This record gives sequence, structure tokens and C-alpha cells, in this order.
Amino acid sequence: MLNGLEKMRRTAVYPGSFDPPTNGHCDIIKRSAKLFDCLIVAVAENPAKKSFFSVEERVIMLREIVSEYGNIEVDHFDGLLVDYTENAGAVTIIRGLRALSDFEYEFELALMNRHLNATVDTIFMMTDEHYSFIRSSLVREVARLGGDISDKVPPVVEKYLKERLP
Ligand code: ADP
Repeated sequence: MLNGLEKMRRTAVYPGSFDPPTNGHCDIIKRSAKLFDCLIVAVAENPAKKSFFSVEERVIMLREIVSEYGNIEVDHFDGLLVDYTENAGAVTIIRGLRALSDFEYEFELALMNRHLNATVDTIFMMTDEHYSFIRSSLVREVARLGGDISDKVPPVVEKYLKERLP
């Protein structure tokens, strides 16, 4: 019989803007889903940050991307990530690290989150070398300028970007 803590250990939350989801995100999602019984991919709603795709669109894209996996859920949240994580019954936040440039921001974020709620901890997954140069804003820019993004995002994201961009 599992106790409450054991159940919590089985779930992790992977939060992000995912504006849009890239193959780098997908790699982190798939690898994390092997480590935990349940992974919740949580799209952050941040009214202060103007997004390219709406939260609903990002959730739809992610749901399609993870549809073949039985242990991955897609959700969205506003407010504090640690509150969301605790309410989701988890004690683990997953974040991805590309280069040293990610480190400072991620380090601050993880420390702040632990300060806010010491029961929740952050685990970092190192990017796969194939995806280390991929970030959502750069993908949007390349797509806008007519460059090929087919090997940088899943097909559903490419479709959404093509529909949205002139
Ligand atoms: P944020 O949540 O800071 O707005 P993103 O939505 O772009 O950022 O990314 C969510 C998480 O995924 C972050 O931890 C980010 O570092 C990580 N990430 C983004 N792109 C990649 C990639 N290509 N490889 C590994 N991790 C990535």
C-alpha cells in the first residue's frame, strides 16, 4: 500500500511557456516520463508576458504531441508554480538546461521556488546535444523569415506556425 509521500514521488510537473513547444521540450518530456509514473506538462499563463500562441493553442498542440503516451497529462496554470505543483499532488518540478546561459536564471528560479515551498524540489535535465540551440523564440523568428523548422518542432507545431504566419 502506497503512503501519501510515495504517491507524490510518482508525479512530476514540467512547467513552461511552450510558445510554441519545440523538439527540445519534447525530448525533455519523453525522458522525464520514463522517470516518473505520471508527468504533468503545465503551460504557464503569464498575463505580463505577451505570448504568440494562446494558452489554449499551446495546450492543444502539447496534447497532440503527447497523445501516444499514457502517463503524460497536459494542463495550464496561473499563479505560483509551487502552489500548482503541491495542488497537483507532486513534489518535483522538472526544468531543462541547454547552455550555461540557462543556468543563472534556472538557478534563481529553483532557489526562489524552494524558498517559497521547501517541500517542492527542482530537477534539471540536460538537453540532448541535437536540441541545445533550439528555443521557442528563435523557432518563431526562423519560421517568420521563411526558414525550415521541420526538424526543430513537431508536425502539429509546424502546421500551427504556418497557419499563423503570412
Ligand atoms: P520558460 O518556462 O522559461 O518560459 P520555455 O517554455 O521555453 O521557457 O521552456 C521550459 C523549460 O524547458 C525551461 O526549463 C527551458 O530551459 C527548457 N527548454 C527549452 N528549450 C529546451 C531545449 N532545447 N532543450 C532542453 N530544455 C529546453
